[in-house]
Amino acid sequence: MPTIHCSHCNPGMRCKNGHLYVLKLDNGSSENDWVYVGSTTKSVEERFKDNLKRKDGSICSLEEARKIGEDGKWHYGNIPGHTREIRRSYLQHLPNLYAHKNPIFMPSYHDDPDFLKRLEREFAQDLKKRGFRVSHA
Ligand SMILES: [Zn+2]
Repeated sequence: MPTIHCSHCNPGMRCKNGHLYVLKLDNGSSENDWVYVGSTTKSVEERFKDNLKRKDGSICSLEEARKIGEDGKWHYGNIPGHTREIRRSYLQHLPNLYAHKNPIFMPSYHDDPDFLKRLEREFAQDLKKRGFRVSHA
């Protein structure tokens, strides 16, 4: 059974391909929707959990993460940046914007190391043109 993020991934068992994903973030108003665009060779679920991982390896719920705040003990995002924005402002994944793009069959890293990042940038540009406020790495 595929996941809502990728037709080749199974719950708990990722495919060996690349993935694009879009997270809706809370912009505190009803103006242009704010989204974060990312790419990963992990599954979309695993990549999201990384944002909630502590230095000791434990994984928090989003609720716990917000209660803890930025205490410098996160695996990622101890300096200001997108990971912090995601912990603070994440609302939901928007698979209707990206699931049809996954999986992304990647050339070998040696042949084209920037392949997935380039697709991510193009996707971010595309969403900007469609009126979204877009953050991406
Ligand atoms: Zn997949």
